[in-house]
Amino acid sequence: MPAEHFDLAVVGAGIVGLATALAGARRGLSVIVIDRDAQANGASVRNFGFITVTGQERGAMWRRARRSSEVWREVADAADIPIVHSGLWMMVRRPESLAVLEAFMATEMAEGCRMLTPAQARSRCPQLPAPDTLGVLESSIDLRVESREAIPRLAAWLAEAHGVAFRRETAVRAIEPPLVHTSRGAVRAERIAVCPGDDFNSLYADRLRAYPLTRCKLQMLRLADPGFRLPAALMSDLGLSRYRGYCELEAAAPLRPRLAAGQAEHLQHGVHLIVVQSADGTLVVGDSHHYAATPDPFSHEAVDALILEEFTAALGIKPPPAIERWIGTYASAADRPVLIDAPEPSVRVAIVTCGAGASTGFAIGEEVIASLFENGAPA
Ligand SMILES: Cc1cc2nc3c(=O)[nH]c(=O)nc-3n(C[C@H](O)[C@H](O)[C@H](O)COP(=O)(O)OP(=O)(O)OC[C@H]3O[C@@H](n4cnc5c(N)ncnc54)[C@H](O)[C@@H]3O)c2cc1C
Repeated sequence: MPAEHFDLAVVGAGIVGLATALAGARRGLSVIVIDRDAQANGASVRNFGFITVTGQERGAMWRRARRSSEVWREVADAADIPIVHSGLWMMVRRPESLAVLEAFMATEMAEGCRMLTPAQARSRCPQLPAPDTLGVLESSIDLRVESREAIPRLAAWLAEAHGVAFRRETAVRAIEPPLVHTSRGAVRAERIAVCPGDDFNSLYADRLRAYPLTRCKLQMLRLADPGFRLPAALMSDLGLSRYRGYCELEAAAPLRPRLAAGQAEHLQHGVHLIVVQSADGTLVVGDSHHYAATPDPFSHEAVDALILEEFTAALGIKPPPAIERWIGTYASAADRPVLIDAPEPSVRVAIVTCGAGASTGFAIGEEVIASLFENGAPA
């Protein structure tokens, strides 16, 4: 049987693959997406669904996040994906953290942000924040979708509205342009985008070994409905030490030793706090960061306890009971937030290497398509 023929084949049906498929379909290309799993099961459905602009690394990543949040809003509308909340409250309890927020407010990245006093915050949500809170940065740009529902809906909409073909339960074993060899036969495509998430040992493994790639494991919990609605996604002081848009500001230097002195164990396990709420009122809470080529698959109670300790400290309430726990992994590289490689003229490999694929994926998909189809590409 002759191989089916497409303008674009995308390997991987996580957010980066789907975003690339969308960017291709919007140009009128015929597109096929191939994934080894029956439905999305990787980082893209294990995350918070938090489309974070505020705090992304200054420059390209921040711009990618802004562009991606625009596309998320368009897609959410068209594909009937509920935006379960809008906005961020960064609630801080230390003077050094307040200084970071004040410095952040003086940058171009503060567009759509303002500072709230604790009293102003309480007038909006009487249950929050913790009594020792010194200030709250409120952002209106960030948004949240329920990834485990949003990603399947996005895929279904790409198929229905854009005619994107999907081959599920199909592993891509090798690429010999224009052929994509799969566990169910070959597909022919003019251009090929490989969006493999944290699987960098299958396709182009020899080439990818040149990059300092590893995996990051995160622990996550779902807590019962606390009985009130959050005003926004919530973060705390520890987030200022992880998100580059904050921690690379000069004003962040005094915060590092302060956190190291008071929360050494949290830092050791890469714990910081994100709390988001689902439509049914339950809370998704995390997370931790442990790096290894093959992280262990176990959820450690001591790490969850650190996450919940920060929940109590920042929100000032006892955590509701946990009703789900899971781990997720994503690709990580110390030297770059995103890897877009061209192993062959008509092939691109796209990997988000900083754990911000939900926030930046749509912009990265557009970049991949531009690099494959514009300016005389393939190069
Ligand atoms: C717990 C957790 C929380 C996170 N929170 C956030 C957040 O709130 N905001 C944010 O912006 N980011 C967040 N992230 C990061 C974000 O989820 C990832 O950056 C993003 O999902 C990566 O998307 P992806 O499409 O590259 O990978 P994945 O979702 O892993 O998808 C890759 C797909 O490729 C398929 N595949 C790979 N190789 C092959 C092959 N050879 N043949 C066929 N199929 C193949 C896999 O089956 C998989 O379906 C979080 C990540 C985790 C784990």
